[in-house]
Amino acid sequence: MANVYAFCNGGDWGVICPRCGNAVKSRIGINKVICIVCWPGIMATALQEVTTVTNGITQKILRPVPDLAARQEATIAARQAQEEYNVMFPPNVQAIADIINAEPDINWKNWYPDRDEVKAKTKGNAYGQSLADMQHEHDHHGARP
Ligand SMILES: [Zn+2]
Repeated sequence: MANVYAFCNGGDWGVICPRCGNAVKSRIGINKVICIVCWPGIMATALQEVTTVTNGITQKILRPVPDLAARQEATIAARQAQEEYNVMFPPNVQAIADIINAEPDINWKNWYPDRDEVKAKTKGNAYGQSLADMQHEHDHHGARP
């Protein structure tokens, strides 16, 4: 199972899918990810017939619900294809998140690892920032034109 490296963009954590290059959402504490673009079945939806009564009128409608069997099937297929990935967070991820969470401006709620595959998809950012660099940026970006 390949490793993918977590980054934070606008306060959201994600990884780059090694197969398609899509950014896949992740979350601190979630250490495995399957790409929804490569494996859309992991979010399969079915329609369930339900009966509603509104103002005395009874009608049947179709309501979207998670298709758990299809999702499980897609998850197993992704695992068999070696396309469930280990999410690698920086060892100090909580300290990074604390600075990001204290930052009110969404444009500055970022952290990117110093990894070529992340640089290729997120050009023009600072990579592998230290906590001191992040704190300095957080304290001083208010003067940005
Ligand atoms: Zn993908």
